[in-house]
Amino acid sequence: MSSILQETPPARSSALPDIRSESRETLAARFTELGTPSYRLDQLLDWLYPRRVDGWEEMTNLPRVLRGELARNYRLELPQLVQKQGSADSTQKFLWRLADGNLIESVLIPANPDLYGERADRHTLCVSTQVGCAYGCRFCASGLDGWRRNLEPHEIIGQVLAVERWNARPPEPTSATPSPTGTSDRLVNNLVIMGMGEPLANYDHLMLALRNLNAPWGGGIGARKITISTSGLAPRIRDLADDPLQFRLAISLHGATDVVRDKIMPVNRKFPLAVLTEAGMYYVEKKGKMITLEYILIAGVNDSLEEVLPLSRLARQLHAKVNLIPYNQVEGLPWSRPDESRCLAFSERLQAEGITSTLRLEKGHDIEAACGQLRLKTERQSPLKAT
Ligand code: SAH
Ligand code: SF4
Repeated sequence: MSSILQETPPARSSALPDIRSESRETLAARFTELGTPSYRLDQLLDWLYPRRVDGWEEMTNLPRVLRGELARNYRLELPQLVQKQGSADSTQKFLWRLADGNLIESVLIPANPDLYGERADRHTLCVSTQVGCAYGCRFCASGLDGWRRNLEPHEIIGQVLAVERWNARPPEPTSATPSPTGTSDRLVNNLVIMGMGEPLANYDHLMLALRNLNAPWGGGIGARKITISTSGLAPRIRDLADDPLQFRLAISLHGATDVVRDKIMPVNRKFPLAVLTEAGMYYVEKKGKMITLEYILIAGVNDSLEEVLPLSRLARQLHAKVNLIPYNQVEGLPWSRPDESRCLAFSERLQAEGITSTLRLEKGHDIEAACGQLRLKTERQSPLKAT
């Protein structure tokens, strides 16, 4: 009997909230209840964010009694690295296992000093917000196996901290495990919410996570350095417009008419272009900021030059710039990218219409960087499949 008890993890722990899913305000209220002085909260937050720890025992300047009290009330977990592809000077893809066994991905993209004049040690991290996706865009790997669940705030935050922690470990081959605390300079200074899942369908968790990642006591990433990408959840775009924080918005358009969009993005039946455009205009008015329209070029689907006029009309109406992205082939799906000359012709015609646009030479093509692909492959090939 005792051996069974020993092997069974404490049932209460899984029901506890993770401490990084709490806002500073709720933690402050808890500390007041406990009669703990507020400087202890600053010490705790320093361990949770700049130092990125994943064990209570590491918080050596907190009294043992307080650590015990916190451990009884909160979990403290970071995602576990399952697989990493790519090298330090190129795009790197991280496959993580969450506490319940589900797999998610993050992609780390080094700044290109030639393009943006950024320091070469600056990085953009692309994070996931859900396990799978319910929106089922026809071209996308993330939705292929449907939606499993929303990520908790700490699972969104944890992707950033775990990448930075991983980066701060001693050089290989000294250690195969992360260093206990990563206090080196921040690695991630740009965040794009473009990994697996539809971020605006997990709105409350996303906003809590982004507030903590933005806060000076937390992740310290400027709101203007955080871009949220949506397939077009119009009511949530309005909510985002009403939020005081200045996050950037990208809309995954991929079709400039309802005919094209209906074919490849089921969300368009719920929020057709007219509704989406109004929400986009509301956002631009409220924020006074430019938005980005993402447009994947898929051969024979949306890459005809006839699509350029309706696309430029929309971009003009929304004062938006357009990111053209040649489609990244997904195993098992029939879509393919147009050849380079066709992509260039589309891009040139768009610019001739006076629209600011970029033709993004996609990074990470070779390591299946488009959202959901690595996870899908791993789940289908390995026995790690979550239940
Ligand atoms: N759900 C959100 C954010 C995640 S998807 C959204 O749809 O915007 C992030 C971006 O990757 C979207 O623009 C999406 O359309 C694009 N994408 C998905 N599959 C792709 C593929 N195979 N090749 C290129 N881009 C892809
Ligand atoms: Fe979901 Fe975005 Fe993929 Fe569409 S493109 S299925 S919304 S993750």
